[in-house]
Amino acid sequence: MASVLEIKNLHVEIDGKEILKGVDLTIKQGEIHAVMGPNGTGKSTLAQAIMGHPSYDVTEGEVLLDGENILEMEVDERAQAGLFLGMQYPSEISGVTNSDFLRSAMNAQREEGDEINLMQFIKKLDKNMEYLEMDPDMATRYLNEGFSGGEKKRNEILQLMMLEPKFGILDEIDSGLDIDALRVVSEGINKLRGQEFGSLIITHYQRLLNYIKPDVVHVMMRGKVVKTGGKELAERLEAEGYDWIKEELGIDDVTVTEDK
Ligand code: ADP
Ligand code: MG
Repeated sequence: MASVLEIKNLHVEIDGKEILKGVDLTIKQGEIHAVMGPNGTGKSTLAQAIMGHPSYDVTEGEVLLDGENILEMEVDERAQAGLFLGMQYPSEISGVTNSDFLRSAMNAQREEGDEINLMQFIKKLDKNMEYLEMDPDMATRYLNEGFSGGEKKRNEILQLMMLEPKFGILDEIDSGLDIDALRVVSEGINKLRGQEFGSLIITHYQRLLNYIKPDVVHVMMRGKVVKTGGKELAERLEAEGYDWIKEELGIDDVTVTEDK
């Protein structure tokens, strides 16, 4: 049966300041949703809260994966339950090679005693790196250390292709990518597309959606989802920007600020 990720009335604070003010969003495995919106509207906060970043306090609401509240799980349990978060700014880990990191992450998802066979791992790694047009050296380099922006993003998609989570939450996966890297990254996501994979693709540019056609598009403003539609919504945003939504809502400022 297809898994479902439900975000219900999610309120999130950072340092006592409310950033998310009741986000509702449901995504089924097999679907790709885009979350769009101008800067400062709470998109990254949504991603961080789902994955359990310690600075983000959930004050109200829930996030359910197949009916289970993942907000009560530790971060590693969330990953084991099948969630993957690609970060807007992935961290560098010196001393851990990319390949070691991937293998540990994959083994962490499996039962003890059922570790992935080394040959199978290498085969899968080689295949996916080739698909993503990555330099084979990237496997033995330390995680993200000295990686260019584009290499980091490709590496995230590599993690996604190796880990095959139920849901991938990708924050600004397209930022800072040249057109080649954008194409490769999009192809990686499109390859995963199917019954077993759902994704929340957070982007502030519509250009990514020329490569990855979302099933559903959400627009965030002021810490909420203010509009949901199909592909045509992304097309209208590309043609007209966000002003018409602001007019519909009767607001000037889209960002998250106090006293609204
Ligand atoms: P987006 O990803 O849509 O650009 P963010 O979720 O990053 O928006 O930020 C939403 C709002 O939360 C912004 O006003 C931002 O300044 C504020 N914010 C984000 N992170 C922090 C933080 N660590 N401390 C204080 N405020 C933050
Ligand atoms: Mg952001």
